[in-house]
Amino acid sequence: MSTSTYSLKWDLDVFFSGGSGSQEFRSHLESLDELLTEFNRSVSAWEIPSSGYETKDLVEIIDLFQQTGTKMRQAGAFVSCLQAQDTTDAGANELRGKIAILSSRFQTVLTLLDDKLKKVNDDVWKELLVHEELKELSFVLNERREEAAKKLPREQEALINALNVDGYHGWGEMYDAIVSKIKVQLGEDELSVGQAANKFSHKDREVRKEVFNNWEKAWGNQADLLSNTLNHLAGFRLSVYKQRGWDEVLQEPLQYNRMKKETLDAMWSVIADRKEPFVRYLKRKADLIGVDKLSWYDLDAPVGETDSALSYQEGAEFITEQFQKFGKELAQFTKTAFEESWIEAEDRPGKRPGGFCTFFPESKQSRIFMTYSGTPSNVSTLAHELGHAFHSFALKEVHPLNRNYAMNVAETASTFAEMIVADAAVKNAKSEEERLALLEDKVQRSVALLMNIHARYLFETRFYEERKNGPVSKDRLNELMETAQKEAYGDGLEEYHPLFWASKLHFFITGVPFYNFPYTFGFLFSLGIYAKALEEGEGYEEKYMALLKDTGSMTVEDLAMKHLNVDLTKKDFWEKGVQLCIDDVEEFLSLTK
Ligand SMILES: [Zn+2]
Repeated sequence: MSTSTYSLKWDLDVFFSGGSGSQEFRSHLESLDELLTEFNRSVSAWEIPSSGYETKDLVEIIDLFQQTGTKMRQAGAFVSCLQAQDTTDAGANELRGKIAILSSRFQTVLTLLDDKLKKVNDDVWKELLVHEELKELSFVLNERREEAAKKLPREQEALINALNVDGYHGWGEMYDAIVSKIKVQLGEDELSVGQAANKFSHKDREVRKEVFNNWEKAWGNQADLLSNTLNHLAGFRLSVYKQRGWDEVLQEPLQYNRMKKETLDAMWSVIADRKEPFVRYLKRKADLIGVDKLSWYDLDAPVGETDSALSYQEGAEFITEQFQKFGKELAQFTKTAFEESWIEAEDRPGKRPGGFCTFFPESKQSRIFMTYSGTPSNVSTLAHELGHAFHSFALKEVHPLNRNYAMNVAETASTFAEMIVADAAVKNAKSEEERLALLEDKVQRSVALLMNIHARYLFETRFYEERKNGPVSKDRLNELMETAQKEAYGDGLEEYHPLFWASKLHFFITGVPFYNFPYTFGFLFSLGIYAKALEEGEGYEEKYMALLKDTGSMTVEDLAMKHLNVDLTKKDFWEKGVQLCIDDVEEFLSLTK
């Protein structure tokens, strides 16, 4: 046990001193501006090579690309931290605006670069990639080139990008604007949707039920506007796909997540086949809270009580101790993060809600943001974010262009770290009741990923299919949603949430399409690695880190084959992950017999 006391506030001054008024940061932005100009000049002047020996210019361009990207991320990370720690910091918001402009200039140069890469003759391209300095980047460079080839000519893509701002993304913003006006009644109070959502874990069923009824009513009142918004957003996306000649709505999300359709299908088919134990869990939970059948608003209800609050220091030491059992790198890394104030955990007003982890590539350090008040869920959030930071740590010596991993593997290290701590917490529980509550936390999480997210996936794929033939009415949207929920929850609920298509922000996100299956993938993928780690015991850490190192430069199928020796397109791997979730369910069932 350490005798030092960890700081609840993070240190941002090591990057740029002086917060949003930092002079150092202003100079950083100036040098970024200059670099961008130089990068643009080199790409514009680059003549498409006609032989595989003309590598010199391309190597220089790649180097400028990497430098600009690194500086951009360093700047973005700093401003995200400033904005999160104090939502009233006007200077930080102003800096965000500056970065947005720099980042759109960066995107424009990249589009020009991709267009030129696409025009390189195939044989010449192959010869270029043999070159020592390009070889290690062949996956990401090939990917850029192939993606550009699947798109329209540069001028047309530029037009789409310009129209996106007030069209596609405009519909996403419209959603936020409508939602910000929605209020949910509870007794005398008018709650925002965020506040109302928190009431679904209230221990009193009457409260949950009242909130839910008013919740459905509130969304129902806006269903005309919201279905209009969703239809236009989806219609815009489909029109762009059509222009590009893409028939499958899953093409873009699969490409973005670097995975095959067979992998996705194998995963969902295992999940669809193994609903039964989870339905038994829903039934048992209904018994425990004294109803015949659970309703949507009972899913997050607490069954036991945990009053074991841990101070920040205790939480930190508990996590480090559990990590220590897995591997010394992870434990040492975690100690450093606490000792060098990488974490902003203070519980004070004026902070953004939620948690995140961000990496400062020039300094090779991460920063974690959260609000710690001592609950078991705070401890797991802390472990989760430390997992993200460890992922960046494993990647820090990798070429910057090989560090960009997609959403489906982004949650691998975080889920893994959370699992280590969650399992330890269940084992160390001080009473049967606490043990049950902690175990239920784990099961609830499986239900969210294997049932709730499944419903979202079923709904979204079906909705997009129907949308191809024209607008889908709000009644039909309700119907599609309820059908998807019944299927995903194995008919295990009494009342469903048909307006979920309206209340869930994720259907309206335009940055990343299909904001659903990558969560489930990441969760089960991480469980598969966890199972392997338990099997192999000590010494697994080195292999684990080698896997993390490759997450930014491979397809998920290759990653799994290389490091786990498994074929993700086959059901076998997914069966094992789901089985681990079922083991928790069985334990829960036997504890509550
Ligand atoms: Zn995460």
